[in-house]
Amino acid sequence: MSGPEPILSIKDLKLHFPVRGRGFGATRWLKAVDGVSFDVFPSETLGIVGESGSGKSTVGRAVLQLLKPTAGRVVWLGENIAGFSRAKMKPYRRQMQIVFQDPLASLNPRMTAGDIIAEPLDTFEPNLSAGDRKKRVQEIMDKVGLLPQMINRYPHEFSGGQNQRIGIARAMILKPKLIVADEPVSSLDVSIRAQIINLLADLQAEMGVALIFISHDLAVVRHVSHRVLVLYLGKVMELAESSVLLSKPRHPYTQALLSAAPVPDPEIERGKKRILLEGDLPSPLNPPSGCVFRTRCPIAQAICAKEVPALEPRGGASDHVVACHFPS
Ligand code: ADP
Ligand code: MG
Repeated sequence: MSGPEPILSIKDLKLHFPVRGRGFGATRWLKAVDGVSFDVFPSETLGIVGESGSGKSTVGRAVLQLLKPTAGRVVWLGENIAGFSRAKMKPYRRQMQIVFQDPLASLNPRMTAGDIIAEPLDTFEPNLSAGDRKKRVQEIMDKVGLLPQMINRYPHEFSGGQNQRIGIARAMILKPKLIVADEPVSSLDVSIRAQIINLLADLQAEMGVALIFISHDLAVVRHVSHRVLVLYLGKVMELAESSVLLSKPRHPYTQALLSAAPVPDPEIERGKKRILLEGDLPSPLNPPSGCVFRTRCPIAQAICAKEVPALEPRGGASDHVVACHFPS
């Protein structure tokens, strides 16, 4: 099958953070991301899901080179941008944007909504007339559900949901090719999460932008994602088309995540295996040997402590990859 070319290709990405030991202890390396590979295709939403501490944000930031990879490639439209400086990244920032978890903390409190949203425009289209600039800001405000009269208000005058709309407007105003949304609803009231998720999904479809949607909550990710990548302790456990991952998960970790998240489809819900994960995520400073999931895996065997399972097609489809010695 020769499908479309990916716009983004992550190859064996590693981000290891130096952690100073106490006293005279030697520096140790925290393997936040340890050999992650995936593609993102034009106009698709790729969900990235995993418990807190699994490396999701680190992957998201490494895509935009807000964090520099220890190893691996970040291929954007055919070009490896891994390690590019801020200055060298500037032209690419027009094409990729990020939406953060906590909108209030990520917006400048001394700038009006209008100026915050216009910031990327001011950087990349500085010669725009004041009238055109305002028009562009108002257009995108309308798209994200903000009223024109809100243009001169400050972040503290908005609700969390409205501030996230501002963050989304800023990310969208240049019509980028890719948006990384890192837990975009996790800091919001439960009652307004669906609105913001739907807004992102609608804008994604309407503007044809590719979206990497990061969340610790599989229930959130599955609504919007065409494909879902499951991350655990800095490694990919499973990656598949959304409907396949939900109905035929093959990795015991995916199954555990699913069993913790209720599925609206009663048939799937009934047939679901209940798997409870015991204990916490092990420390990425001292990950388990072999398969990193094995210490919490209900079906682990001796080989799992010895050999790292390769991420390979183990389902029916070639785009369903699983890293497990005993996929179900
Ligand atoms: P997630 O977004 O899935 O919760 P993160 O990517 O934020 O996970 O973090 C993955 C791991 O890397 C965690 O153990 C976290 O403590 C660690 N980590 C993240 N950033 C740094 C850093 N700058 N220095 C050291 N450790 C870090
Ligand atoms: Mg995170």
